[in-house]
Amino acid sequence: MKITKVTVQVTSEPKQHAIRDAIQLLDRNGRCDVTVETDAGISGTSSTYFGRVASSPPLLGALVTEQLGPAIIGQDATMIRHIRDQLRTLTDYQGTAGLSTFGISAIDQALWDLLGKSLGVPVWKLLGANRTAIPTYAMVGWLELDVPQLQDVCARAMEQGFQGVKMKVGGGPLAEDLERIGAVRAVIGDGVPLMVDANQAFDLAEAIRRGRAYSDLGCRWFEEPLRAADTAAHVRLAEKLDIPIATGENRYGQEQFRDLFVGGGVGVVQPDLRRAGGLTDCYEIGLMAAGFGIPYASHGGGAHIHVLAALPNTIYVESGLLPADGSVTLTDGCYPLPTEPGLSSWSAH
Ligand SMILES: [Mg+2]
Repeated sequence: MKITKVTVQVTSEPKQHAIRDAIQLLDRNGRCDVTVETDAGISGTSSTYFGRVASSPPLLGALVTEQLGPAIIGQDATMIRHIRDQLRTLTDYQGTAGLSTFGISAIDQALWDLLGKSLGVPVWKLLGANRTAIPTYAMVGWLELDVPQLQDVCARAMEQGFQGVKMKVGGGPLAEDLERIGAVRAVIGDGVPLMVDANQAFDLAEAIRRGRAYSDLGCRWFEEPLRAADTAAHVRLAEKLDIPIATGENRYGQEQFRDLFVGGGVGVVQPDLRRAGGLTDCYEIGLMAAGFGIPYASHGGGAHIHVLAALPNTIYVESGLLPADGSVTLTDGCYPLPTEPGLSSWSAH
């Protein structure tokens, strides 16, 4: 099954409702869809999402069209790890972390989709499944929402059957965070997991101060308290706090995760498919985390659900509210796994 063609389709449009976290306004829906075709007449597709910067999808498209795609023409499409390693070597000179990894991930996911379709099974079965449904929580507490809106969306998440909710913090002073956390807790009740996410907003001293406050309020985890790449600060913070530190969505490649695990700087690891390096790398990072006894909760959902089904240390898939059309429903707070061959058409984002 030789690769004959790699094509790209790019879209980017403004969001109808821009969302905000502590450091960024996410005001666009951008996508770069990559299709890998073979001489067997079977193709695989991936979809890479961008929440802001209109030029990012076409930049990734050019990288795949002009550099990564041509490099894999003629290769055996089933040699997924070999192709991943080849593309890492190819992009080393320009820096594999960053957009190059987005491209390697896009091809990796398309190849897994292709392999699943060629064998007639969903990818999670190829990885060796560990579970048939994935516990999920709702990331719904964005900072542009005022307190009544925040309470309303958390109530909807509970009605839809999510096991917990996550809210953004760090957009203002600690007192504002505490007011918003209290308002959410009043809606969801005492026993429901409530996660807080600072999106890298704090320095170490502020992260210690706020982390103690979130911990006192019983929050489930403190996500991205610090600049993502600062492993030493994560280690020092973890020594100071009882609340688990969750991070990983802005780390690239396995080495960056290994250093975090070895140092003890993370309590819940959250790789992102685009930045960690695709299904292959997320699976390998997840197994490495399992070896360190670290739980795994994906950043976002979508194709990531196949990895979550296979890992031994999965605790959650992240989701927004469910689609209003009723196309996805939860059972006992868990996402169902797709049954179609490959990666499937629906996604949990
Ligand atoms: Mg986050």
